Amino acid sequence: MSVAFITHPDCLEHFTGAGHPERPERLQAVRNAVKASDLEASLSPLTPEPVEEDLLAAVHTPRYVELVRRLSREGGGQLDPDTVVSAASFDAARLAAGAAVTAVRTVLTGENAAAFAAVRPPGHHARPEAGMGFCLFNNVACAAMAAQHEYGRTRILILDWDVHHGNGTQEIFYRSRAVMYVSLHQENWYPGTGAMNETGAGEGVGFTVNIPLPPGTGDAGYRHLFEEVVLPVTAAFAPELLLISAGYDAHAGDPLGGMALTARGFHALTTLVREVHRGPLAAVLEGGYALRALGHAVTATLGALLGRPAPEAAGGLSEEIPYAAIRARARAVRRVLRDSWDI
Ligand SMILES: [Zn+2]
Repeated sequence: MSVAFITHPDCLEHFTGAGHPERPERLQAVRNAVKASDLEASLSPLTPEPVEEDLLAAVHTPRYVELVRRLSREGGGQLDPDTVVSAASFDAARLAAGAAVTAVRTVLTGENAAAFAAVRPPGHHARPEAGMGFCLFNNVACAAMAAQHEYGRTRILILDWDVHHGNGTQEIFYRSRAVMYVSLHQENWYPGTGAMNETGAGEGVGFTVNIPLPPGTGDAGYRHLFEEVVLPVTAAFAPELLLISAGYDAHAGDPLGGMALTARGFHALTTLVREVHRGPLAAVLEGGYALRALGHAVTATLGALLGRPAPEAAGGLSEEIPYAAIRARARAVRRVLRDSWDI
């Protein structure tokens, strides 16, 4: 199966300031890890263009896009205490969204079976009229809009495994039944949204699936939630396109999350999803702040997409939380879902 790898050096030019966790070194670590792996020769490199204005306008208000443009032109500014715009950020953010759109185009034209967009700034917290949580433009939402508007797709699934809830993506598609949003995230964590009973509104009821997880959930726990919730609901929805908001801050080594996933776990989750959804798949990088862990986890994901074996198990890690709590959570989410889905 052919897999595209999409990135752009100008995404390194978005500067967030000394000590900020969302730093250019993250993307450099991903690029270096791919180079150092034996995967690079098997990947099709693609170079993105900045996202088109009409796609950006389908996700964000003109007033907000203009604010980011103006702050960049003026040399920079802050959208909130965490979210920085630098001189090159407007261009970097348009390339990040453009890379996500390129990923969708290459898989929906059949040129590649899957694609991974290695970009920053990340996107899933970005709301229609405001950036937040390190995110400027909602990259994965632009990609979903391209699939709808350019390719007429009406069943798009966004699977978000970043440790934080993608409040922006949820908000953008909350009333849509064309775009299902499924998020696994740490409970009672930034940004505070993503409760189980947030299931969508209007005709979109049932098309938002939130799976808040207790801190300490690791490879086996995530696998259980996939088997009990994510895979059944994916099979029931039968997406024509699967987008992954691929954040890696649920890795055991990440400073911004309290979860216990390993690179091997990300390989397993990717493989599980691939067994249920064999159609077009595009993953877009979100968070992930431990540089080595991020590199390992991204190459594990790419390896799974290429059908390569899982990386070696990391030593010294174990599941910290009682498995009973995970089983109870899976049952609780299934109870909510049964109002909408026959699972
Ligand atoms: Zn995150």
